[in-house]
Amino acid sequence: MKLTRYFFLLIALIVANNLKAQRQWVIFPQPNEIITNEQSYELNGKIRCVPNEEEKLAIAVMQPQFTLFHELTFKEVTADSVQDLRFYYQPRLQKENYQLEITARGITIKYGDRNGLIYALQTLDQLMDDQSKVVEMNGLQIIDYPRFAYRGVHLDCSRHFFTIPEIKAFLDQLSALKFNTFHWHLTDDQGWRLEIKQYPKLTEIGAWRDSTVIGHYSRSPREYDHIRYGGFYTQDEAREIVRYAAERGITVMPEIELPGHARAALAAYPEMGCTGEQLPVEGLWGVFDDVFCTQPETIQFLKDILAEVIAIFPSETIHVGGDECPKTRWDVCPKCQKVRTEQGLHDSHELQSYVIREMEAFLNDNGRKLMGWDEILEGGLAENAQVMSWRGTEGGIAAAKMHHPVVMTPGSHCYFDHYQSTNPSEPLAIGGYTPLEKVYAFEPIPEGLKVDEQTYILGAQANIWTEYLPDMKSVQYNTFPRLVAMSQVLWTVDKPQYSSFISRMAIDYLPRLYEQEITYSTAFLDPTITLNPTESGLNYSFQSNVGSIWVNGNSENTLKLNRTPAPQFITAFVESDYRDEISRELNFEFVTHPLIGKPVHFITPPSKSYNHHDSLGLTDGVQGTTPWKGSQWLGFSYDTIQFSIDLGEITVFNHFQAGFLEDQGSWIYYPKTLIIETSTDGKKFKQHKAYDINKKVVNWEKKCKAKVVRFTVINVSKIPQGKPGAGNTPWTFIDEIMIY
Ligand SMILES: [Zn+2]
Repeated sequence: MKLTRYFFLLIALIVANNLKAQRQWVIFPQPNEIITNEQSYELNGKIRCVPNEEEKLAIAVMQPQFTLFHELTFKEVTADSVQDLRFYYQPRLQKENYQLEITARGITIKYGDRNGLIYALQTLDQLMDDQSKVVEMNGLQIIDYPRFAYRGVHLDCSRHFFTIPEIKAFLDQLSALKFNTFHWHLTDDQGWRLEIKQYPKLTEIGAWRDSTVIGHYSRSPREYDHIRYGGFYTQDEAREIVRYAAERGITVMPEIELPGHARAALAAYPEMGCTGEQLPVEGLWGVFDDVFCTQPETIQFLKDILAEVIAIFPSETIHVGGDECPKTRWDVCPKCQKVRTEQGLHDSHELQSYVIREMEAFLNDNGRKLMGWDEILEGGLAENAQVMSWRGTEGGIAAAKMHHPVVMTPGSHCYFDHYQSTNPSEPLAIGGYTPLEKVYAFEPIPEGLKVDEQTYILGAQANIWTEYLPDMKSVQYNTFPRLVAMSQVLWTVDKPQYSSFISRMAIDYLPRLYEQEITYSTAFLDPTITLNPTESGLNYSFQSNVGSIWVNGNSENTLKLNRTPAPQFITAFVESDYRDEISRELNFEFVTHPLIGKPVHFITPPSKSYNHHDSLGLTDGVQGTTPWKGSQWLGFSYDTIQFSIDLGEITVFNHFQAGFLEDQGSWIYYPKTLIIETSTDGKKFKQHKAYDINKKVVNWEKKCKAKVVRFTVINVSKIPQGKPGAGNTPWTFIDEIMIY
C-alpha cells in the first residue's frame, strides 16, 4: 500500500516539475533565472496598481497587448487599496535588468530603467495564459538580464518603402522580443527616405524611382516594371518613430549611406558626384560606380545632412554606411586626386577612410559616435569608430583586437533576406541559405579573441534588406520566426537545445504572431530528405521529427524516381504535432533521366556551403533553378573542377546536357570551357572537343560509347577587374548532369 502511494506521489511530482519546466519556456527570449514557488495568484479582469509617471507610460504602451491576449486592464488605484501589481524603482539595478515575483500576495516588479520596466511587463504578458479574464498565475521569481547590451534589428526602407504605421507595428514586435536598437536604413541608391530641409531635392527627386527591375537582378535579359515608386519620411514623422520606439525601450539608429550607395542623392544633386552627370534614381539592385565625390563641397554637403540627422535622432551612435564603395570614379576624378595629394594619401582606399574620418570628427564634435560597415577598416579605421561586421566575422575580430566596439552581423547567420529553406517553391530572395536552426546556433563572440578583446563585442543584429521584400507581409515572412531565435541568442546566457526551442516556439509564440496577424514562415518544419540509389533509379525518403508527412496526398513518405525520362511534380505536406495551423507544404519538380541515382566521383569536391546530396547532387532529378535558392546547385571555388560518373556498364548515348549558373553579384560566373572524356574501361580516356560555356544549359550531341565519363570544367582563376568580386576566385555552380 505504502509503495503504491509513494509511486503516485512520485508521478505527481514528475508531472508538476515538467509543467514548471514547460512554463519557463512560454517566455521568449527565455529569462536567465527562474525559481518557481508553490504559491499562486489570481487576476480577475484587471491589474490594480499605483504607478508613477514612468510606470503609467509603460502601462499605456503595454495595455493593447494585455487587452488582445488576456482581456486584462491595468487599473490605477489609491495607495491604500488592494494592489495586484507593485512596482519598485531600484536605480541601483543594472541597465535593462528586472526582477519579477509572483506570490500569493501578488505581483512585484523591480526595475532600474525604462527598458527593465518594459521587459518586466513583456515577460508578465507572456507568463499569462492566453485569452481569459481570470488568470491564475503560478508562483515564481524571475531575475533577468540581457547577455548582450546591443540587440539590434535593421530594416532597409530604401529598396522598399514602409509606412509609419507599419514601422510602429514592427517596433512592437521588436520590443516584445527585448531588442533595444532599430537600425533604420534610410538612404541608398534606390531611394532617399528622410526629409532634409537644407536640401529639399533629396526627397523631391531622390525619394522616387521611375522603374524597378522585375525578378532577380541577375536575370538576363533584365525587365523593368516602369512604375514610379517611392516615398519618404518627414522630419516630424521620423521624430514620431523615435518617440514611439523610445517608449518601448528601443533606440533608433539612423543610417545615412556614404560615400557609396549614393545614387538617389546624386540624382537630386549631381554636382556632389565626381562626373556631375545627371543620372536617375536607380531601379536596379547592386553596387554602382557613381558615389559621392571627396571634394570639399560634398564633404560639407554630407556634414550639413548629418547636422539635421543629429537634430532628429537622439541616438548616441549614427551609422554612416561606408560599405561597397567602388573607387573607379575617384581614381580618375581630378577633384578627388587633388584631395588625395593635399591629404598625403597613397590611394583611393585611403580616400574612403579620409571621408569616414571627416564624418567621425563632425559627429564627435557634436557629441555622437560613428558606426560603419566593416569596409571602414580599409585604409585605416577612424579613431573612435564602431564597426558592424557583415562580411563574415573577420572585420569584427580585427576591430575588437584594435579595441573598437563591434556589432556582429555576419551574412551567414544574421541576414534575414536570405532563404530560410531549400524548398524550390520558396518566394524569391536574394540568395544564401540561413535557416532557423543556423540563426539559433549563432554565437556572436567569434573565436580567436582574448577575454579582454571579447568585451568589445557589443552584441549582434539581424539585417533585413528589402530588394526582394516588396511589402510588410514579405518582411514578416522573412523575419519570423528567425527573429525569435535571434532574441534568444542575444538575451539568454544558457540557451536550451534547438529541438526544445522550436517546439515551445511553435506552441507558445507563433500563436501570438497569428493573433496579431503577423505572417511567419514554417520552413523549420521542412522534412529531412534522404536519397537512396536503387536498381532502377533513386528513392526519396521524407522524414520529420515534428509531424506527419503526406506525399501527393498519401501517407507513404517515399517517392520512387526511375530512369525513364519524364517530368514529375510532387507535393510534400508536413502536418506538425504542435498545432493544426502550423504546417508546411513543399513543391518539387523532378526531371528523370538515365543518370538518375548514379553517384558522381568528385576529384575536386564541391564547397561545404554549396553541397547538396553529396555524390548524388548532380544526378538527383532536381535541376538547379534560376534564380538560385541556395540549393540544388553544387558550388565550387576552384578554377578547374573535375568529376566523373561510372555508368556501371558500357552504355551508348547520343545526347549530354549540363546546367551552369551565372549570378555575378554573388561572384558566380559561367566557366569558360567544358572538356568531356569517355572511357570503356575507366583507365584509358578519349578526349572529345572542348566546349565553350556561355549559357545556362550546355547540350552536346554525339554518339558515344562509354562506361565512365569524365568532366573537366575550367573557369578563370581570378574575376577580372570591373566585375563584382574582382580579384577573387569565381564560384562555379553546376547542376544536373544528364545523358540520353
Ligand atoms: Zn571626385
